[in-house]
Amino acid sequence: MIPSVMPTYNRAEFAIDRGEGAYVFTTDGRHMLDFGAGVAVNALGHAHPRLIAALQAQAAKIWHSSNLYQIPGQQKVADLLVANSFADSVFFCNTGAEANEGALKAIRKYHSYNGRPERWRVIVMEGAFHGRTLATLAAGGQQKHLAGFGPVVDGFDRVPFENMNALRDAIGPETAAIHLEPIQGEGGIRPASVEFLQALRKTADEYGLLLSFDEVQTGIGRTGKLFAHQWADIEPDVVAVAKGLGGGFPVGAILAKEKVATCLTAGSHGTTFGGNPLAMAVAGEVLDIILADGFLDHVVKIGDELKAGLEAAIAEFPKVYSQVRGKGLMLGLKSVPPNTEVAARMLDHGLLTVGAGDNNIRFIPPLIIDKREVAEALDIVRRVGAELSV
Ligand SMILES: *Cc1c(COP(=O)(O)O)cnc(C)c1O
Repeated sequence: MIPSVMPTYNRAEFAIDRGEGAYVFTTDGRHMLDFGAGVAVNALGHAHPRLIAALQAQAAKIWHSSNLYQIPGQQKVADLLVANSFADSVFFCNTGAEANEGALKAIRKYHSYNGRPERWRVIVMEGAFHGRTLATLAAGGQQKHLAGFGPVVDGFDRVPFENMNALRDAIGPETAAIHLEPIQGEGGIRPASVEFLQALRKTADEYGLLLSFDEVQTGIGRTGKLFAHQWADIEPDVVAVAKGLGGGFPVGAILAKEKVATCLTAGSHGTTFGGNPLAMAVAGEVLDIILADGFLDHVVKIGDELKAGLEAAIAEFPKVYSQVRGKGLMLGLKSVPPNTEVAARMLDHGLLTVGAGDNNIRFIPPLIIDKREVAEALDIVRRVGAELSV
């Protein structure tokens, strides 16, 4: 008989009962060092006292009003995002898929609003992941996600990641934008080079296209800058955000330049729950913490330390580990045996990670981890390396 919880996931056997900082505690009495962070969501770890306080204070006031009224929390979060990014204006939603779907709608609307309705196609990348709605599935283009769901939403032209010639060849009179993850997450922690990102900006300008990033996983401090594209010192036109923004509370956002945001006029896009007061209370606190002096420097330093440790493990156990990729605290360790097998061993030793494409194990811990926790994780990586080398 089918389980009452629809079996769309191959779930692990255990349930997490509570968390504290970088650790989680299971209902069957185990504890684990959490380097998966709920797939890069728990940016400030578990049970952060300031996030608990912000949520509890808001919970005693108003949970939901509606976007029919002013929501003061939205003003604070939007102001912080605008002050610290390329963006002039922000739309709040609830999930990464919604943020991407909204970004894609904004792209189409921009050209139609400016008298070029024929420009509606978006260039996307091989190996991309943008979410599970019909349009974002089409943008991601993974066969295993699309199979059986009927005609694929039209309007996407796919090119190989990091291939400028193929990208320029794909541009036609109907092209509206280029949309990509600055570091592919589900695809296996594949970073776009600074040169590629800068070339995309130039090409977009040359052809009058919008440049749009899916920073659902890379955003909100994950790579050591508020947004990963900031490493390339370029300004996109649209960015989709979610995961880390709520530190575990569901919230997403579309960030846009004024010329794009202007096209989403009253009534043209909307949401019931997006920008909900509870979500905004938490997101405001998350941003205050991440944007405080020294926080992002910590992410860079501790990320470098973790990466150096993983590189050392590769040198020591070449039969088990082969490559490390990524930036800040978004690292992928490629394994020689199946990644599922290696990750299961790590879990046995008390280290939670997340798999990714191209046989990678994702190390995407809370951004607050310290040296001691990095050392503990690396110790487990080496132990598993030694076990699987024999
Ligand atoms: C997780 C993720 C999404 C989808 O987010 P949901 O909240 O699951 O809809 C989209 N894009 C990227 C890059 C992601 O990592």
